[in-house]
Amino acid sequence: MIEVNTSQMAMDLEDKYGAHNYHPLPVVLAKGKGVFMWDVEGKRYYDFLSAYSAVNQGHCHPKIISALVEQANTLELTSRAFYNNVLGVYEKFITEYFGYQRVLPMNSGAEGDETALKLTRKWAYKVKGIPENMAKIICCQNNFHGRTITVVSMSNDPDARKDFGPFTPGFVSIPYNDLTALAKELEDPNVAGFLVEPIQGEAGVFVPDEGYLKKAYDMCKAKNVLFIADEVQTGIARTGKLLACDWEGFKPDVLILGKALSGGVYPISAVLADDHIMLTIHPGEHGSTFGGNPIAAKVAMAALEVVREEKLAENAQKMGEIFRNALRGINSPYIELVRGKGLLNAVVIKPFNGKTAWDVCLKMRDNGLLAKPTHDHIIRFAPPLVINEEQIHEAVEIIRKSIKELE
Ligand code: PLP
Repeated sequence: MIEVNTSQMAMDLEDKYGAHNYHPLPVVLAKGKGVFMWDVEGKRYYDFLSAYSAVNQGHCHPKIISALVEQANTLELTSRAFYNNVLGVYEKFITEYFGYQRVLPMNSGAEGDETALKLTRKWAYKVKGIPENMAKIICCQNNFHGRTITVVSMSNDPDARKDFGPFTPGFVSIPYNDLTALAKELEDPNVAGFLVEPIQGEAGVFVPDEGYLKKAYDMCKAKNVLFIADEVQTGIARTGKLLACDWEGFKPDVLILGKALSGGVYPISAVLADDHIMLTIHPGEHGSTFGGNPIAAKVAMAALEVVREEKLAENAQKMGEIFRNALRGINSPYIELVRGKGLLNAVVIKPFNGKTAWDVCLKMRDNGLLAKPTHDHIIRFAPPLVINEEQIHEAVEIIRKSIKELE
């Protein structure tokens, strides 16, 4: 194996041998701890992306890493062909933690969404009584639920769709944060579910109007339609509550989790629901070789315990307020808008002097803070939830300095 000892070498290798399906910020990371990452040359950065909110518990959290190492040295994978002595313990733990009767464990967020869609269709035919192959699922414009063919069938992002058709039928797309459009589609008796992100993360941290989610949930209930919450990015304390739906005090019928369910150390996702929904799926109808394996189960339990023990939801709420207030205090022609909830925040950048959000991110990198533009003109700021007040202020100072240097 060759040794990478410069950033340029790592970037050249990826460029030559990897698929060109990403456009990373030019920085090569070699180490992480808590809210920080270090590049190959040893320079330290604040991580203000947290691997798209997977690393909520901070990089290399000792409790999560020891759960990983200990289980990896004991029993790694059995497949679901046999029982093992960890999965049931995890299933009890996670269902009690989130208040559901059952869990279906998967790996990636997209698989979690796929699972929720299959489950909703099954429920539609077996319980609701929709005629075969007629079930519809309502989704929202500008959604992001992952990259599989079925998941991009719900997307209206041209980059996600172009040259990947034909797509999976059975979806109706409505504007986000629009209850009138939802009411209209819910008139169709063949609607089985409404899939929604409580905050649209990838779209640029779009926070819907207060009350939108709960009203949408009530409208779904009135029409016997499942409310499916994709909390892959918003869940697990990111927005200042355990789930973003908790802000409006209701429990989704189907809950999709991923990312921070592992604290970023392992691909773990899960779908939670109660018996009348989950028990419509029978042996052989859905599954995954790695889903819920002993390492994943131990890692997820440790990751969720850390969230509770370290009161990460409370910290995200408090630090988020301080962060947004401080950002709003920066007076610059580049800043059009600051928005977000908890520690899921974004700044809308106004192009100025020919500079864009990408240039701002390059400057912040030079000054020791990593964030990534989403959709050219928006920068998401989502640090690990273990960040403290002093670090928030230091980070805001880096952001302020970087923007001023571009003016
Ligand atoms: N759902 C939401 C809301 C997401 O933000 C993402 C990823 O960003 C996904 C699903 C897909 O997750 P994964 O990349 O693990 O497939």
